[in-house]
Amino acid sequence: MKIVIVGGGPAGLMAAESASAAGAEVDLYDAMASVGRKFLLAGKGGLNLTHSEPSEKFLSRYGTRRTQFAPLLATFGPDALRAWAHGLGIDTFIGSSGRVFPADLKAAPLLRSWLRRLRKAGVRFHVRHRGTGWSGQGILSFTTPNGNRAVAADATVLALGGGSWPKLGSDASWVPLLAERRVRIAPLQPANCGFDVGWSGHFRMKFAGHPVKSVAAVVRSHTGIESWHPGEFVITETGVEGGVIYTVSAALRNEILAKGTATLRLDLAPDRDVPRLTKSLSRPRGKRTMAAHLQRQANIEGVKAGLLREVVSKDDFADPARLAVAIKSLPVKLIAPRPLEEAISTAGGVLFEALDARLMIRSLPGVFCAGEMLDWESPTGGYLLTACFATGRAAGLGAVDWLTKRRIGRKG
Ligand SMILES: Cc1cc2nc3c(=O)[nH]c(=O)nc-3n(C[C@H](O)[C@H](O)[C@H](O)COP(=O)(O)OP(=O)(O)OC[C@H]3O[C@@H](n4cnc5c(N)ncnc54)[C@H](O)[C@@H]3O)c2cc1C
Repeated sequence: MKIVIVGGGPAGLMAAESASAAGAEVDLYDAMASVGRKFLLAGKGGLNLTHSEPSEKFLSRYGTRRTQFAPLLATFGPDALRAWAHGLGIDTFIGSSGRVFPADLKAAPLLRSWLRRLRKAGVRFHVRHRGTGWSGQGILSFTTPNGNRAVAADATVLALGGGSWPKLGSDASWVPLLAERRVRIAPLQPANCGFDVGWSGHFRMKFAGHPVKSVAAVVRSHTGIESWHPGEFVITETGVEGGVIYTVSAALRNEILAKGTATLRLDLAPDRDVPRLTKSLSRPRGKRTMAAHLQRQANIEGVKAGLLREVVSKDDFADPARLAVAIKSLPVKLIAPRPLEEAISTAGGVLFEALDARLMIRSLPGVFCAGEMLDWESPTGGYLLTACFATGRAAGLGAVDWLTKRRIGRKG
């Protein structure tokens, strides 16, 4: 049985590995000159492979898609992933936050070892092949530097990624190709992304590029439940990005979609409460400047003081009780998420409802989907890669299972 994988990111490579191990002849095609480019980029940030938290909590990271991920992660979850990496000669460790990384914090050695093993298993790689759809039943079309190519496949796994960082290969050009075949797709949106604020010229000039540390983001979900997320982020030319902003980005993006703007509430003094801050700020200032008073009484200085000045009115600034409330819940108005191209990951994609349990597109028998091109999202923390590996494995095995049953059916 000849299985074609289109897309050589973590999901496609895992699909290739599982299909090949199950006895299929596997050819993998990728648009770029080499595979795994986004995976290598993830390695620049330490390659957070997965997370060590209890399975229920882990599963909750997939939000409304937890039902679909439960069986996928039950067969290939964080422990299986760590064992798999170990099998490639890559030891992993659990960081202080519970996140799991390769011992050397790099992606390249893992990818090298993996590709070596895949080639040894007989997987054939065809780079600089951009999939452009189908020219007939089971006949895939590719553009290559040497012209167009048609490739026959008994089954196909599409693992084409989302739409973030398109220069690394995933440019979402598959969306119209599947949409015209009536595959149901949720619109692609940025996930784990930054936001535009529209800073004043003065604030931007003074603080763009500054990290804001020891803060917490407070967000309210659509059901009205408030959650508090400690962390840090960075002020950008246009707004905010990084760590804790990514954590709360799905709720903020959805609020912007629903209302046009969103309010990010920042706790600039997570270790103090409002009464303590009010008491400290009410102490006589004497001849000290307000900046010195804020620093001495509330440990607020630099970019945090700048944020207060940017957002809080003069009247509120002069009132210790109102200033204390602002320090604990500074409302920063967000006007737009940053574009998908800049996001860490993609929300939206092929709906699970369009797929069967093996991840085969119901309306396109023999065509399976995996990875970030599916409609799910999760925060950073290793959940993205874990999901790509798990869906890649399921799609690869699903393709073999489908072909095997079809053969048996024909013989019978
Ligand atoms: C800066 C950054 C850091 C990240 N760090 C982490 C991290 O530490 N931990 C984590 O869990 N996740 C991380 N991620 C996310 C993670 O890298 C992605 O979720 C993951 O790579 C998606 O895997 P995929 O196989 O679905 O798609 P991709 O990795 O995007 O691969 C898709 C492949 O398909 C190919 N392709 C696309 N269209 C076509 C076509 N028409 N024809 C042929 N080939 C095509 C592309 O060239 C590409 O090789 C990070 C992402 C970024 C941007």
